[in-house]
Amino acid sequence: MKAKETDVLVVGAGPVGLMAGLFLAQAGVKATVVDREMGPTVRSYACALHTRSLKYLQQLGLLEAVIAVGRKVSKVAFYEQDLRRAELNFAEPGSEFPYMLLVPQDAFEQVLESALVTQTGRPVLWNHRLTDLQPGDDSVISTIEELTGTSMGYTIPHWETVVKARFSLRSKLVIGADGHNSLVRQQLHIEPVRAPGRQAFAAYEFLTDDHDYDEVRVVMAPESTSVLWPLPGNKCRWTFQLLHSEVAEFPGKERKAIRLSDEATDQKIRAFVQELARKRAPWFNLPIKGISWCSEVVFEHFCVKTFGIDRCWLAGDAAHQTGPVGVQSMNAGFSEAQAISAAFAQNPSASGLSSRLQEFNQANLARWQQLLGLTGGLKSGPKTDLWIKDRSQRLLESLPATDAALERLAAQLQLQLG
Ligand SMILES: Cc1cc2nc3c(=O)[nH]c(=O)nc-3n(C[C@H](O)[C@H](O)[C@H](O)COP(=O)(O)OP(=O)(O)OC[C@H]3O[C@@H](n4cnc5c(N)ncnc54)[C@H](O)[C@@H]3O)c2cc1C
Repeated sequence: MKAKETDVLVVGAGPVGLMAGLFLAQAGVKATVVDREMGPTVRSYACALHTRSLKYLQQLGLLEAVIAVGRKVSKVAFYEQDLRRAELNFAEPGSEFPYMLLVPQDAFEQVLESALVTQTGRPVLWNHRLTDLQPGDDSVISTIEELTGTSMGYTIPHWETVVKARFSLRSKLVIGADGHNSLVRQQLHIEPVRAPGRQAFAAYEFLTDDHDYDEVRVVMAPESTSVLWPLPGNKCRWTFQLLHSEVAEFPGKERKAIRLSDEATDQKIRAFVQELARKRAPWFNLPIKGISWCSEVVFEHFCVKTFGIDRCWLAGDAAHQTGPVGVQSMNAGFSEAQAISAAFAQNPSASGLSSRLQEFNQANLARWQQLLGLTGGLKSGPKTDLWIKDRSQRLLESLPATDAALERLAAQLQLQLG
């Protein structure tokens, strides 16, 4: 059977894949975005957009739409128990965006998806799963399965996913934005290189009173880091690092907003969150009126050995991961999606693409060596506060920025990138 054709196949319609689709659309490139799931996520997950991401959204004409579903904060504060130890201020003189934008990932994905449909007329192909990649000199042939749900069983009826159709798709480029367990990465036999620092966290999003928190609060105890994210409306999220955990794997993103619960369980979870927050952050005085969702999640520290080969390239969590506090993996993913898309739009020929993407590869490997602290990390100077000096490695992954912006934020703490 003859393969269908597209210029670029984007595998994964998470935030990074959707941004890749938008960058390609802006450059006039015909792209097909597929995702094995039935629609965008329904959870707030990675909920902070760095300055550079805001700049990309501005260039894509989407900044106002994203601001409308977000909450601006002007600071990140670092606490230990009741003590406010340090702060980062986005509202410095001359800063282009005097704030960081907190946007629940579900709301963000919805804005991106609807912009993609409006701008290209081509909807995301949900329920479409990549199962195989065959890279060639001039193109890549991908096997895609179209999935559907069907009711199975008689005695115990249940819902199962079945393959409705299977087809080949020929493209000149594949962008693997297919997340932590990336099949594109596996098919290319690209190994992740792990750095120490595997951490388990529990996230609790809750309803509270209207509040005027203008900052993200990071609580750094000797053995744990916790974060209070003030979300839009009357919601907040606590992300607590777990000291001992049974959590084994990075969970898949939730697609169904169903949460089976009862009042007694809810009350138990609310009491647990209130108690843990009181222990770790005695200043926390917001009521926990209801739990919207909660989940445990393990974050590894890794980066791939190479971001891609020939005509198949990785972006976002498919290529790397670090801790959750600085939201570096998703935001760096946007830069990667932008760079791969621009390289293709400027010169899709094999030789042109290869040389530009090799440059991209070197730059991003260096960036991730830096973010994972493998090139020296953050260095203190004579003016650095002792509390900050002692936590400089933990602070590296907690700064909401990469590259030059990371250096500027680090300088506010009297730290320098080594
Ligand atoms: C419970 C939880 C809490 C989190 N909290 C934080 C946080 O506080 N801070 C933080 O920085 N990050 C957090 N994250 C991680 C954050 O969600 C990711 O960094 C972000 O989603 C990465 O975006 P991405 O587009 O690279 O990948 P993803 O969002 O994972 O998207 C990948 C997409 O690819 C699709 N896909 C996978 N395989 C295939 C295939 N074979 N064919 C087709 N489609 C495929 C998936 O369905 C998915 O939609 C959290 C994640 C979870 C699960």
